[in-house]
Amino acid sequence: MSDECTEWILECREAFPKLDRFTITSEYKKLGKNVLGRVKGQVERYRDIKPKSIFLDGEVKFSTKTKEEHSYQIFINEKLKKVEPDNFRKQVIQNIMTHELLHIENKDLTTLSKKYSRRMKKKIHVSDFHKECLDRFNQIRKINNINPIKSYDQLKEAESKIATKLKI
Ligand SMILES: [Zn+2]
Repeated sequence: MSDECTEWILECREAFPKLDRFTITSEYKKLGKNVLGRVKGQVERYRDIKPKSIFLDGEVKFSTKTKEEHSYQIFINEKLKKVEPDNFRKQVIQNIMTHELLHIENKDLTTLSKKYSRRMKKKIHVSDFHKECLDRFNQIRKINNINPIKSYDQLKEAESKIATKLKI
């Protein structure tokens, strides 16, 4: 079952070319109440050592440029496996994936993950975010020749109804 998330996230990434060099995986997972999806990120920073400075000066020097290795895991609430048929479930899940991918692109995690409390205070779910979410989701739908969704509020309402039905 986890294979379908792997496949569907690849399609979603078509709408996020900026994230091309990142490692992003997706799978179903048992998640908490009211949580449809979650993204876990890891950004590793490396300082580049300068071998020449050690050999010639006996002192260690690092280049100022830091390399960043980004890897993310997008978890989808496993209760959503019950959504049927397959093409309907795919849309529901790709919408959640789009939301999480947009958080990655906006660096909502990487810049703020150190201070979780600060992250909570930052308003990340603002109307611009929602508009962008819908726009990207429609781009992905276009790949599958599915009509665009016009209203974010209607999409949100439909999503809530699914969550309530599945007791998420
Ligand atoms: Zn969010």
